[in-house]
Amino acid sequence: MNGILGFAELLKNPNLTGKEQQDYIQIIQKSGLRMLNIINDIVDISKIEAGLMKIYLSDTNINDQLEDLYAFFKPEVEEKGMTLHLSNALPTNESIIQTDSQKVYAILSNLVKNAIKYTLKGSIHFGYVKQGEMLEFFVKDTGIGIPKDRQEAIYERFIQADISNSHIQQGAGLGLSISKAYVEMLGGQLWNTSEVGKGSCFYFSLPYHLIHQKGTSKDDFNVVDINTLKRNLKILIVEDDEVSKDLLSISLRYFVKEILEARSGNEAIDICRKNPDIDLILMDIQLPEMNGNDATRQIRTFNKDVVIIAQTAYGFSSDKDTALSAGCNDYISKPIDNNVLISLLQKYFRWNITLWCFVSIYISNSIVKR
Ligand code: ADP
Repeated sequence: MNGILGFAELLKNPNLTGKEQQDYIQIIQKSGLRMLNIINDIVDISKIEAGLMKIYLSDTNINDQLEDLYAFFKPEVEEKGMTLHLSNALPTNESIIQTDSQKVYAILSNLVKNAIKYTLKGSIHFGYVKQGEMLEFFVKDTGIGIPKDRQEAIYERFIQADISNSHIQQGAGLGLSISKAYVEMLGGQLWNTSEVGKGSCFYFSLPYHLIHQKGTSKDDFNVVDINTLKRNLKILIVEDDEVSKDLLSISLRYFVKEILEARSGNEAIDICRKNPDIDLILMDIQLPEMNGNDATRQIRTFNKDVVIIAQTAYGFSSDKDTALSAGCNDYISKPIDNNVLISLLQKYFRWNITLWCFVSIYISNSIVKR
């Protein structure tokens, strides 16, 4: 919060150079992200402790998840002068299991994030092996290691291995407690081996119940016929918060022929009745008067075809479930990640993957420049 408020104050100075402005904006973004992560962790741990954290099982392609994480973290690891390695034990058609995909993703990304945070040189290697009826995941680093007498304590809430270490400022000590709780909810165990100065390896197991069907794989999106490329979408943004609405409009501006806007559920229904040719509705759930789920239910009574994507608050898996049962095709968590948004467009409107990557980079750059 200090980073956000302090640098926002500095930005008021009209004599700053363009470079200084960009640097300060980056610090504000980074601090905002860190604060958001901490808030999300606190929400998650509170829900776990209150017994309100639910499991949502779905067919989950483990290889896809690991490959996404690899692509996501590789630049950060390489920027630190280190290398990142991934080992998938099973072929993709044997790596689809019934589990809670969001929780598996959260566990893995937390362990890889820690490995990056607590490693200054060398490499990080992650992946899984099949051990009987379980998949055993590992995240191994060549980092600072954890003293023997702290290797149990680190799974407790708000506890860090070494309180004299400067790295502690980067987290709240909640990630491992949340990950451990998730693993146990999913029927597995989480443990580690570690040696100070040499590195750590975190392991967790998950039951392996193979699903004999083809999941939605990233590869499916690669097979896109160029003729089916849609670039003239008519999109309705239903959002009562001005800043969020502007952000969405900017993110989408390359893909639309027309953007319509509604600030409430009632307004959204009205616009939908008058515009049966809308391709996509981005529906905020928390709306004044009538909420997004009720508005979706009503829209579905006269328009079954329009793609409706709910914008849900982070961490509330139940919101996602309710949105889907109200008639939304999909959901996206707030704050909206451009890459997720564009991959959803790709999913429903058959975007060309090369163009998608290009446009995604272009948008990210142009938003940072703003
Ligand atoms: P945070 O990283 O936010 O402090 P975690 O719960 O994820 O919280 O981790 C708790 C503590 O465990 C960390 O503060 C750190 O001391 C230790 N730790 C976790 N992962 C590693 C790792 N890969 N290498 C060394 N220490 C680690």
